[in-house]
Amino acid sequence: MTKPDKIAGNNPTELITSATNPQIKALKSLERKKGRREHNAFLAEGARLIEEALDHDWQAQQIICSPNGLERDYVQELVDRVEAAGGRRLVVHERLLGSIARKDNPQTVLATFSPRHRSLADIPSDDLTSGTLLALYQVRDPGNLGTILRTSDFAGVKGVILIGDCCDPYSFEGVRASMGSLFAMPFYLASEDEFLSWKAGLDRPMIAASMNGTTPHHTAPYGDKPLVIMGNEQSGLPDHVESSCDVLARIPMREGADSLNLANATALMIYAAWGARGYEL
Ligand code: SAM
Repeated sequence: MTKPDKIAGNNPTELITSATNPQIKALKSLERKKGRREHNAFLAEGARLIEEALDHDWQAQQIICSPNGLERDYVQELVDRVEAAGGRRLVVHERLLGSIARKDNPQTVLATFSPRHRSLADIPSDDLTSGTLLALYQVRDPGNLGTILRTSDFAGVKGVILIGDCCDPYSFEGVRASMGSLFAMPFYLASEDEFLSWKAGLDRPMIAASMNGTTPHHTAPYGDKPLVIMGNEQSGLPDHVESSCDVLARIPMREGADSLNLANATALMIYAAWGARGYEL
């Protein structure tokens, strides 16, 4: 369970109208990694994402809405859920909502949550016994990462491992792209060394999606518990990581094509892995 709350809420009856209010400034700072680290918080925008988070046992530190928003039943319901779990409500002037999320058409409700930092040791043993695990090597684009978490959530993946120097999953862009799957799909952080030594003790094939692959991706021997690994957007996988893989799989492309976008290639790989076990979870 995440801990509430470093960015304190105001008196529920007070309306914040000033952009220079310290709480508004703190919320705006969440756009940057430094601000997220300083406040141990990240922002989720919109009722759907917030509901997804609460449904997956994430505790909101704060729920932020305007007086107009509060008149909507679905917003009031979320506010009640957050407050019942110990979170705080922050009522702000309508125009401040857009300035917090840097959006012209802001959502009617925002919430802050504490990031979760999980390591390989946190992978539940049940998730190690069957199903796909996905590893991303130095993924750098938060839009790709959010999209991959979303696809993984829908495609039988048990967990996503972020290897090495990856982008922040809790950036505005990453959270938006995940469409709520950030709250549903567990992800684990590992250095390259940690990952390689953990993998060495693992009883499952590691199948890389690689431009150097010769095995067509849809015929790779995934079995019932594959570890699928994807390369960095610019440089792919380094040679020493490829050489620790059991199979290098290549997704067919027409002659002369460069490479697929990372999120698209990941979708093809994890669906092939899932299909290979008859779409069983
Ligand atoms: N220049 C990079 C390279 O040579 O790997 C291209 C990186 S690509 C944008 C990002 C990742 O997506 C790759 O490392 C690989 O994991 C996966 N990928 C993209 N297209 C692929 C394909 N046709 N076959 C297998 N993997 C592919």
